[in-house]
Amino acid sequence: MVVLALTTLISIQDAASDFGFRIVKGGWKYGKKVLVFHPPDSSYTVGSKKFRLYRFAIREKKLYIHPDEAASAAYWLSGKGWFYDRDRGRFFSRKPTVKRLVLKEFPDSVVLSLEGRGFQPSLIRNDTSLVSLHIRGAFYPKYSYIRGDGNILRTVEISHTSEGMVLDLRRGKGFGFFHVQETRNGLRIVLFRGLLGGVVVLDPGHGGKDPGAVANGLREKDITLSVARKVRHILEKEYGLRVVMTRDDDRFISLARRSEIAKENRTLVFVSIHCNYSRNRKARGPETYFLSTARTSHERAVELLENSVIKYEMEGRKDDIEYIVSDMLQNAFMKESQKLALSVHRHLARGRSDRGVRQAGFYVLRKIYAPSILVELGYLSNKKEARLLSSKTYQWELARRIARGISEYLQEYVRR
Ligand SMILES: [Zn+2]
Repeated sequence: MVVLALTTLISIQDAASDFGFRIVKGGWKYGKKVLVFHPPDSSYTVGSKKFRLYRFAIREKKLYIHPDEAASAAYWLSGKGWFYDRDRGRFFSRKPTVKRLVLKEFPDSVVLSLEGRGFQPSLIRNDTSLVSLHIRGAFYPKYSYIRGDGNILRTVEISHTSEGMVLDLRRGKGFGFFHVQETRNGLRIVLFRGLLGGVVVLDPGHGGKDPGAVANGLREKDITLSVARKVRHILEKEYGLRVVMTRDDDRFISLARRSEIAKENRTLVFVSIHCNYSRNRKARGPETYFLSTARTSHERAVELLENSVIKYEMEGRKDDIEYIVSDMLQNAFMKESQKLALSVHRHLARGRSDRGVRQAGFYVLRKIYAPSILVELGYLSNKKEARLLSSKTYQWELARRIARGISEYLQEYVRR
């Protein structure tokens, strides 16, 4: 039994008059049907059907229940969709739009599916205890309180506004991240098992005195920051992941500092974002790299280009490629990095000229003890691609693809 402050509860007498029900001993009557509350065993019955009552209190022999539970009880008694508008503090009746709501538990996830049409989900809160989603167009009268598996999900509280339902998902200890997917039948909210407070580190390449590649009126540092911000937005809002950026404005950050940021956090993956440049003006298309030995002359060229940032660094260290290679061979994350690269590249390259997953010895990935990749969004040296890269629509498209690849990798990762 959850004892709540009386102000959040409503007496069953007051509720009955709002619903137009008659009061009978210990319950409600509608037509010939009777609903009886049994607070001692936290339940109520409608005929032979028994339902759980979660949030109620008894004061001076009067029973008070949560308005959302009152609305559900009213549905079971009358068969009509009753809802409590939490903004206006009153009940309203309308046709339910969620045909079914199913909670399924798996070892690595909990899946909440809503069947119906025209649902528009948006995230209204995501913190250490609670994820709140507002789903416009969704009205579900049957239950307002559902117990989860206890590990990933404690409870689901369903409330309504006049526009749709609010799902409050109380996080369990094992809750990692979530994904809201639109399906043919409605919506599916997948809550994945924990990543132990891990974060995705996004690293917009270059910045400040280091512009990166400059061509066709564009500077690499601007494009990488703009796309990284969009990736962050999507990862946070659509997947509920925590994101840390190595820079969030136009400033110079040394390569050493970038890997320090990865070390200071529980980094799940590290994704460095760049744009490419080639003397061959025809070269185009995204490429995805993980840390390894550069095998081809092209990989070598990109490696030299991205490592050239060293010239901006005060220390002016002159590590040569051989050193990078020996260091990186000890990198236990090479296999994972390759998997991450494949997962991201599969989405990034879909429907465009595919330059493949590649390997090279980037300084920025070297000291990162987590799966890490470097994404080349495209070639600034290619006139057509430069124009694309400068467009916000295309940047959102790239960001969406990168975010999807990262989340799919993490979904695989929690399954292992
Ligand atoms: Zn770069």
